[in-house]
Amino acid sequence: MLIEDTVLNLLRLAAVRLPEDVKAALRRAYELEGNPLGRLQLENILENIRLAEEENVPVCQDTGVISFYLRAGLGFRGLNSIEGALYRAARKATLEIPLRPNSVDFFTNKNPGDNTGRYLPYISWGLFNGDYLDITVLLRGGGSENACTLKMMDPSAGLEGVKEFVLDSVIKAGGKPCPPTIIGVGLGGGADIATSLAKRALLKPLDEENPNEDAAKLERDLYELINMTGIGPMGLGGNITTLAVRVEYAHRHPASYPVAVAFQCWAARRATARIYSDGRVEYLSHKI
Ligand code: SF4
Repeated sequence: MLIEDTVLNLLRLAAVRLPEDVKAALRRAYELEGNPLGRLQLENILENIRLAEEENVPVCQDTGVISFYLRAGLGFRGLNSIEGALYRAARKATLEIPLRPNSVDFFTNKNPGDNTGRYLPYISWGLFNGDYLDITVLLRGGGSENACTLKMMDPSAGLEGVKEFVLDSVIKAGGKPCPPTIIGVGLGGGADIATSLAKRALLKPLDEENPNEDAAKLERDLYELINMTGIGPMGLGGNITTLAVRVEYAHRHPASYPVAVAFQCWAARRATARIYSDGRVEYLSHKI
């Protein structure tokens, strides 16, 4: 029950209250936005966030599909009960928060009505030597998902080619992923690895520098370039199109240069908790 209850709390936190770093980035964006229409959009977004918290309702009607990212200590008691608890929490959350039932059969469109189905919620496992369990919940709506891109580039394209592709993806997406967005860029590995790294990059806190200096510079350069597009908040014009760019990378085959771009709308709904084997729970992403 402890895992199920904690995950239910995480799903509610994610759906209703954006993490502090995202709210701080949106407040900063409001200060920096020079376009009156863009500023108005940010004002509406901040008011939307305030009302959702006050009324304890989801911050957006599209509560997205659920992904769970786990870091499980091999010494954590109850490893074999985690998946069942995640599914039960997803079903309960759909009824109680409520979350919009967003999981449909690929071929028939049939909706089980509880946000579960084949491979949904998505569960990503990581194991380490330890005795606690970290669970991150990510809720992403269709507007963000549909803008994602992947390109298998020629290595000769280099970082200038990466920038061109990311910028092109942002311009093509325009206002559809509800900017200001967070942009996750996945580099290297293969097509699957780059795509998964781009999504994982969306989990990084917005107020932490990338520890790799090359990746940090790429993040800064892309942040500047994207905010020069003029797309602006909700695509209605302005100088804040992205809140942050986050890069994750892997080694690659010498002949391959995969680049993936994942979009996250302003409603960046993620929440993380750590559960210890002795039953203690710490919420890491939100002040409770
Ligand atoms: S892109 Fe995000 S903010 Fe826009 S409708 Fe979808 S979930 Fe909501």
